[in-house]
Amino acid sequence: MKCVFCNFEKIMNQIFFETENYCCLYNIKPVLPGHSLIIPRKHVESFLDFKEDELKEMFLLVQKIVKVLMKTYGSNGFNLGIQEGESAGQSIQHFHIHLLPRRTGDMEGDPSKWFTRLFDNKNLPIFSEEDIKRNISMIKKQLSD
Ligand SMILES: [Zn+2]
Repeated sequence: MKCVFCNFEKIMNQIFFETENYCCLYNIKPVLPGHSLIIPRKHVESFLDFKEDELKEMFLLVQKIVKVLMKTYGSNGFNLGIQEGESAGQSIQHFHIHLLPRRTGDMEGDPSKWFTRLFDNKNLPIFSEEDIKRNISMIKKQLSD
């Protein structure tokens, strides 16, 4: 099994919140500060395979975490992103939803750039463990308030 998101040891340091069925991770290649992911614990490849109650749980969690990320990063907006299939740029075959808190002017005057950056994420630097730890503790602090 080569799926990174099924390898708990590998993603453990990125996790900042968990529920029975989902994990919230800080992205190791954030395109913006606060760029996080929500993934199901079990290996689900396609958005189209989720059942009604799973979708409900997931989107309630998305809403909760987006609020926390917006507070943590002083945001006034957010983007959500799902890439499904090679044609859409999916790089890890385990469903994940991108959560990006946004601020006015955060993408050098081109607010749509976040999407291009998701596609070329090979060129983005990988965050150090220190940077991930620092961001996770900021988010956790906000979660506990
Ligand atoms: Zn997986």
